Amino acid sequence: MERDDVIIGLEIHLQLNTESKLFCTCSTDYQKEPNTNICEVCTSQPGAKPMAINEKAIEFTVKLAKALNAQVLTEKEIFVQRKHYFYPDLPSNYQRTSMPIAVKGNLNGIRIREIHLEEDPGRYDIRTGLVEYNRCGNPLIEIVTEPDFKSSEETKKFLDKLAILLDYLEITRREEGSMRVDANISLRGSNRVEIKNINSFRGVITALNYEITRQSTLLKQNMKVERETRHFDESQGITIGSRKKETVDDYRYIPDPDLVPIYVTKEYVDSIQLPELPEQKIQRLVETYKIKRHDAEILAQDKNISDVFEKLVKENINSELAVKWLNRDLRKQLNYRSMNFSDSKLKYSDIKQIIVLLSEKKIHEKIAEQMLIELLDKGKTAIKEKLEDEEKISAIIDEVLLNNKKVVEDYKQGNEKAFHFLFGQVMKLTKKLAEPKIVEKLLKDKLDK
Ligand code: ZN
Ligand code: MN
Repeated sequence: MERDDVIIGLEIHLQLNTESKLFCTCSTDYQKEPNTNICEVCTSQPGAKPMAINEKAIEFTVKLAKALNAQVLTEKEIFVQRKHYFYPDLPSNYQRTSMPIAVKGNLNGIRIREIHLEEDPGRYDIRTGLVEYNRCGNPLIEIVTEPDFKSSEETKKFLDKLAILLDYLEITRREEGSMRVDANISLRGSNRVEIKNINSFRGVITALNYEITRQSTLLKQNMKVERETRHFDESQGITIGSRKKETVDDYRYIPDPDLVPIYVTKEYVDSIQLPELPEQKIQRLVETYKIKRHDAEILAQDKNISDVFEKLVKENINSELAVKWLNRDLRKQLNYRSMNFSDSKLKYSDIKQIIVLLSEKKIHEKIAEQMLIELLDKGKTAIKEKLEDEEKISAIIDEVLLNNKKVVEDYKQGNEKAFHFLFGQVMKLTKKLAEPKIVEKLLKDKLDK
């Protein structure tokens, strides 16, 4: 929804893929049996003190900061604060959250205000009253943007870019809900509403569109938009008012007296190396393989697919064929299933097999597509040699013509659609294995005789 009076800002929480939690040595794997990765620190037993902050989490924060062109605050004491709130997912009654570690970044034309570290709370199930603390104390990075977004589309573009960048950085977890977003949204001059805990990218867009409609409807009726926190109900695609917005005072921030401040030196920041990032990869693909920039951009959107491309070309697969197949056919099937390459469990060897068959002209594109679909949906496929035997195809065509006399008549009356129907029937009978060009030619010959 594009409107010139919409102001949106995001707070994005990313789960880091460190081995251990932020202030204790428990594993961060929260998919285990409930409440097995816990200790006295992350469940805040009386007298338990946090350990020194996990240095890997600092390293990951610095990496992300550099990738977002943000300025890491060096040679400065960065306090870890206690942010108080009372909810069963948080046994200490406060969340440890650092002051900004980096400021003033940017991505896709959007300014990043600050980046800090904090701990994830556990999970509280309202329906059962059970709490699960495996996640409690896991490191989260929070990215706070300036209110620079003017539409949900712009927000989506930014989040897509961020997701690609994170793929390259390899510092975050990939499970459902490993990225959670709070969105602030207001229509100019009116109160700001905070939408809390949106668990997917698609959810962000749905929630924002819903809020834009809700708020503008209120304003049109001369009603007031309340300053409040709203909860996003993903199943219904709506936001629901939950409680009045807490102010900073309610959180009673105080520096955690059990922790020494974080201190990052300039040398340390300089020593952190970044992996190849999307833009560098695009340029390298263009220069090394002489492919079009546009093609390189699409390849690089999925780090794994672009790696597959490079491997194929190094094994002497024609780069044009590889680009075409990966960017068009593979992408189409992945998008259709809302998957990226790593979700698909496709193996490099499977892809190579299909592309080699294609390049040796042993199969045609339709069969390649069918093999890919079987790999995606069943995990296996068999090579299907294409049918080029004109005699066999001819016999099938005769059968189709015989069974569809009415359609043949329609064709002779000049109905072009009738041809497509007959063509489709022949392909169906050959299980799509027939070479389409041969079918087309033979069918035309027979009909026009
Ligand atoms: Zn622990
Ligand atoms: Mn937060």
